[in-house]
Amino acid sequence: MKIDLHMHSTRSDGRLTPTELVEVLAHREVDVAALTDHDSTEGLDEAIAAAAAHPALRIVPGIEISASHPTMDNSDVHLLGYFVDRADAALQRQLTALRQEREERGLRMLDNLARLGYPLDWERVRELADGASIGRPHIAHAMVERGYLATYKDAFDGLLNNGGAAFVGRVGVTLEDAARTIRSAGGAAVLAHPLYVEEYATLVPRLPDMGIVGLEAHYANFNADEQRALFGLAKRYGLLPCGGSDYHAMGNENEALPGSDGPPPEVFETLERLAGAG
Ligand code: AMP
Ligand code: ZN
Ligand code: FE
Ligand code: FE
Repeated sequence: MKIDLHMHSTRSDGRLTPTELVEVLAHREVDVAALTDHDSTEGLDEAIAAAAAHPALRIVPGIEISASHPTMDNSDVHLLGYFVDRADAALQRQLTALRQEREERGLRMLDNLARLGYPLDWERVRELADGASIGRPHIAHAMVERGYLATYKDAFDGLLNNGGAAFVGRVGVTLEDAARTIRSAGGAAVLAHPLYVEEYATLVPRLPDMGIVGLEAHYANFNADEQRALFGLAKRYGLLPCGGSDYHAMGNENEALPGSDGPPPEVFETLERLAGAG
């Protein structure tokens, strides 16, 4: 059974439309897949409709909220939510505000890039995002398109990466707020890619008190030792070891494909039960 609980579409910074993504999932014989776009649930209806043609594939409604952590320099902490009710008004209010902040932050990053000698056209970045949640990958692509850099990855090297010269952080919502929103929308909250959070060791023990029920341990970009360490942490703090590929269809050589990693069925079943009990 292939379960993958983390992937993106063109409704945020992924490069496949929800329909194209579903075709890849069906082709790769994935059984359960969660679409978890950054700060948007807008791809879910399309993905679920497209999956109707593939009875063996189940699409789980998901979200990846860009939260920040005030005690950690407002560094980015991504919170996944599963089985959220996308009609929930409070959830949509929070997502709309976050997307608005992404626009303002994008403009500020363009100011920084211009000062650093890489002027870009904001309208072009918006076009590349095509109405979706704007993120650093869209800016990175605009830079490559303008011929400033050879690859998308280069844009993150010292420029757009966290703490990079053009980087602008987010204030948006706290992890606690994001967790509350997910829970009140009937969802189950899971900490995304913990090893990307600098102070994860002090954060993880506090997750249960925030109503967060799991962490990503089966994460395709973490090696076996890293995953083992996360399984240990999950067990110790009573968190579900979830995970997935975080597929964006970026097309880089070593990108993990959908279905390449994820939790076993019993973990997924517990996650679904916890969401229902929320
Ligand atoms: P944003 O949502 O604007 O903060 O951008 C975050 C997204 O940028 C992540 O989901 C990744 O897709 C991408 N990203 C972040 N850091 C890097 C990096 N160092 N190299 C390549 N892509 C990155
Ligand atoms: Zn992304
Ligand atoms: Fe993320
Ligand atoms: Fe992601």
